[in-house]
Amino acid sequence: MELSILNLENECTGCGACVSICSHQCLSLRPNSEGFYYPEYDDEKCIECGLCEKVCKAIHPEDNRPVTRDYIYIYRSREESTLEKSSSGGAFTSFALDVLNNKGIVFATRYNADTRRVEVANTDNFPFDSFRKSKYVESYAGDSYKLIKEQLKKGRDVLFCGTPCQVAGLKKYLKTANVVDDNLITIDFVCHGVPSMLCLDKFLEFEESGKSKIIDVDFRYKDFSKKKVGWHNMVYCEYFDDGSKKLLKPWNLHYHYYYYLPFLENKNLRRSCYNCNQILESCADISIGDFWGIRKYKSIKDDNNGLSFVLFNNKKFEKTWLDRNSSDFIEKIPFYPNEKQYTARTHKTDFQERDSFYQSVNKHGYITTVRRLYLKRYIGDMVKKLLKKVVR
Ligand SMILES: Cc1cc2nc3c(=O)[nH]c(=O)nc-3n(C[C@H](O)[C@H](O)[C@H](O)COP(=O)(O)OP(=O)(O)OC[C@H]3O[C@@H](n4cnc5c(N)ncnc54)[C@H](O)[C@@H]3O)c2cc1C
Repeated sequence: MELSILNLENECTGCGACVSICSHQCLSLRPNSEGFYYPEYDDEKCIECGLCEKVCKAIHPEDNRPVTRDYIYIYRSREESTLEKSSSGGAFTSFALDVLNNKGIVFATRYNADTRRVEVANTDNFPFDSFRKSKYVESYAGDSYKLIKEQLKKGRDVLFCGTPCQVAGLKKYLKTANVVDDNLITIDFVCHGVPSMLCLDKFLEFEESGKSKIIDVDFRYKDFSKKKVGWHNMVYCEYFDDGSKKLLKPWNLHYHYYYYLPFLENKNLRRSCYNCNQILESCADISIGDFWGIRKYKSIKDDNNGLSFVLFNNKKFEKTWLDRNSSDFIEKIPFYPNEKQYTARTHKTDFQERDSFYQSVNKHGYITTVRRLYLKRYIGDMVKKLLKKVVR
């Protein structure tokens, strides 16, 4: 079957390039029954110009070429406060501050409690801190590509940080719209894949249980005043509108089994995530990630505050970044493309398991689905923990 914008269930990444390019508003990004964003089509407005298909990375993947990298930089900000507010070593912040200090603008992803969505927004409208840290859910790009185009046309420096498929979508959109992007810097990250906002929303609803409203979430909460709340500990935090906060540590029944495990075990990712190879064919200038490879590099000190890795996919920003950040911790090591860390793709390609997950969510609800999936495992894990304690 020929690929068209309307039959891309497995390939569409929900990047929204097709919606942004259409000047007749025939397309809009809407959540499907699983909660993932797909373009919805209004054929009455369509003049069949074909731009939506021309801009689609899934239909025209020819710009996707493997990136050659010989080395990677391990990076840790010297500022403790930056590390505490970042998922790993603060690599994103190191690039973003350069742009902001030059009166530029940063587009990245934040949680919006009003729309109850994780979405792309910009630093002209929201504080920079809200954009830091990983949100383990699909991010809604909305009209951000069009806003980036406007800013570039004004000659402003723009930084966009997003998933590899979002960066690919943005680049293809700007190319199709003939926009000069010399002032644009793009960053993507090694991306495990994304669950839908429906999963997070149902989980948050359950956490709220009719009490205070959750106004923000932090998937990578760190508190350096406490020893075990650092980079490796993966503590999750909810902030409520009454000013209180709730920490859910790993192995906590609710967070670990009800949200984190289905994500980590690829039970509920977007269909396109299962076949994604984007980080090895990145369209971004720079790729970043958590340097979990630290376990092999005993010479690098791991203080549990966080380490990023930085890959330059072209030479454009490398020298300035090295010069500006010379007082931070930076170590250059060889790049081994086959390391699990960079490929990040160990997903199964048949959709049976993830499809039955969402069928069950629609039939029985999210919480019942994850309870059925993990209850036995939870009991087993707790028994093992108890036995370990007794043996010790
Ligand atoms: C869904 C997801 C899966 C990931 N999987 C891996 C992995 O398997 N291996 C690995 O090494 N690293 C992974 N990362 C990246 C990692 O968690 C850190 O983002 C990365 O190390 C950069 O950390 P930092 O301290 O430099 O930046 P931070 O200050 O933490 O900034 C993170 C940046 O990512 C953006 N962002 C956050 N959530 C999203 C989202 N849902 N969609 C789009 N953009 C977002 C933020 O706006 C910000 O620009 C993943 C991130 C996400 C969001």
